[in-house]
Amino acid sequence: MKEEPEIVKILKKEEKLGKLPRKSPFSFENLQIYEGSAGHVSDKTTMVFKDDFGTKTDHDKRVLTAFEDEELYRTLVENVLEGILILDFKGNVLFANPAVANMLGFKSVHEVIGKNVLSFVDPKFHKKVIKNQDLVRVGKEAFLDTYQVTTADGRKIWVEGLGTKILYMSETANVVYIRDITERKEIEESLRASEERFKQLYDKAPIPYHALSPTGIITNVNEKWCNTLKYTKEEVTGKSIFDFVIKSEKGLAKASFEKKIIEKKPYTGGHERTYVAKNGEERIFIIHDYFSFDESKNVRSVHTTMEDITQRRQVWDKMVKSEEKYRVLAETSADGVLTTDVLGRLTYVNPSLEKILGRRKSKTLATPFRNYLSESTVYLFQQAFLDVRKKGRKMENMGLDVIHKDRYEIPVEANIAPLKKDGKFIGIECTVRDVSERKRIERELKRSEKLRTEFMNIAAHELKSPITPIKGYLELIESDKNASEKIKNWARIGMRNAERLMCLVNDILDVSRLDTNTMRFNMEKCDLGEILDSAIEDIKPDIENKNLRFIKEMPDNLPKIVCDNHRLSQVLKNLLGNAIKFTDYGAITLRAEEKEGDLFIYVQDTGIGISSDETKKIFTKFYQAYTGEDRKNEGTGLGLFICKEIVKKHNGEIWAESKVGKGSKFTIKLPL
Ligand code: ADP
Repeated sequence: MKEEPEIVKILKKEEKLGKLPRKSPFSFENLQIYEGSAGHVSDKTTMVFKDDFGTKTDHDKRVLTAFEDEELYRTLVENVLEGILILDFKGNVLFANPAVANMLGFKSVHEVIGKNVLSFVDPKFHKKVIKNQDLVRVGKEAFLDTYQVTTADGRKIWVEGLGTKILYMSETANVVYIRDITERKEIEESLRASEERFKQLYDKAPIPYHALSPTGIITNVNEKWCNTLKYTKEEVTGKSIFDFVIKSEKGLAKASFEKKIIEKKPYTGGHERTYVAKNGEERIFIIHDYFSFDESKNVRSVHTTMEDITQRRQVWDKMVKSEEKYRVLAETSADGVLTTDVLGRLTYVNPSLEKILGRRKSKTLATPFRNYLSESTVYLFQQAFLDVRKKGRKMENMGLDVIHKDRYEIPVEANIAPLKKDGKFIGIECTVRDVSERKRIERELKRSEKLRTEFMNIAAHELKSPITPIKGYLELIESDKNASEKIKNWARIGMRNAERLMCLVNDILDVSRLDTNTMRFNMEKCDLGEILDSAIEDIKPDIENKNLRFIKEMPDNLPKIVCDNHRLSQVLKNLLGNAIKFTDYGAITLRAEEKEGDLFIYVQDTGIGISSDETKKIFTKFYQAYTGEDRKNEGTGLGLFICKEIVKKHNGEIWAESKVGKGSKFTIKLPL
């Protein structure tokens, strides 16, 4: 078989590239040019069109037989959709088929014939036309080119012309097959414009972007890419992207890129990659790829957007390091430490907690912490968990009972705090302190306290019984006419001390009654004035002895109160007694008033005062405020404790306000 002429090769190539549609009647598959064959036309080149229907064997036969007929030839030329123009080498139209007339907006071919082709073609393309004409004329080659044309009805269209040399009416001429490609041009143009728009979008995008060939050669990078990695576009285009990947990742990155290209699966799930900037700085990115494909569905180019996470990573690393620090603390802590997830399931258990639970970490992780709490405290924990979760606040000193593997309960004190991530509740952290030892000591203390009270009670009773006869005999001595003054004086001293002992024993008995809740109260409606007067009566001699002023302020119309008058008067005597004891100059004031449904009684002095941190402590058992090294005031430190307890039994309150060196004020508040 004869070798294919150049034109056919070109056309076939064009067709492969998709520039020419296959369904054209000028299917190049079927076009053959026979040089010097003996056709009915006496010139050297005959164009033979083979039809595009029938089977291969059929059409081989037809090639030889069908084209003798000039009539058929003319019909074909006139009916094809492709325009066929025959020009002389001055550009004058010698022949045009109806498709040309139609394309150029003429009513018939006669309007086209005789015109110069340049009269249709836009002046911008005249030079091109003339050049291509010349090329055909000298027989160099066939040409395929595009031109812009103005039609007879004024439209601007794009045509594609394929020209070649033929013999026409015994003269060489230029036959041009033309095709309207306006639509294709428009599509191409809009594609170009949209590509341009996307390019600009990428160029100005606030995240780094690069485009790569399927072999990893950089074809484009945007401004942000250049700013981030400190290179210019010119420095990187044409280079392999892997030249910029950190050394340690290079091999792996390249291999996985090649695999992705073959598998046609781009990185979409946020792949991490480290690039090295021009200044040597390493920057970490999350990369997202997009592949574009060619007609054969192979990867044509790779488009990558990158998220710079260098800073985020640094913060994260720091956090991990500090977490590490805390982990070490938790691991070595003597207290149990645990964390849970949102549902209260254990996510961390330290060795101390393993010991408290008697269970290995591996057995407890992922199980709910509440599983290890006693029935009586599990509800408390659940409530606390919900509170911590809802309010985001800590809960401290919660008493829980943990169940050891061997089924016994361990009392613990728990502190719970919320665990948060990005402001969201993700669980709790909890420290658990084994307080069984403390609880044991507390129990022990309570027991010994009880023993002490019992002992004091017995001792006080035993002490009290001999005091009464002692006092009786001393009184006898004092009143005996035969006794000398000296002996009477000794008896008086003995008497005073016996009374002090009596007071002490009474105080101890009161405390023991209060502790065992056996003090009896005889509650009845009382007149406050009478109670105050009885107390004043008792302390009057002491006030006079110390040369103090006494002030009593009480409105006449005070309502009656329900109380044990004996006990209330005991309280007042105690307060007044203290006031005198701790005051050397000035006045003692006793005042009462009704305010907002309550009765207030004040005992105020101008004595030594009490420091502010001691005003609360003085109400505890045996507490005596420090009053200087030369403390000369005797006492037991029980008086105010008894006062407080008695006032409490009356549903009242007692408190002290004081300034050192200025005096003190004790207030009793009783509900009416
Ligand atoms: P005491 O038997 O020691 O008086 P109290 O319980 O009555 O025991 O008082 C406790 C302590 O409170 C006293 O020892 C004293 O230090 C202090 N105190 C009580 N009343 C006064 C007061 N009016 N002025 C100064 N200090 C006082």
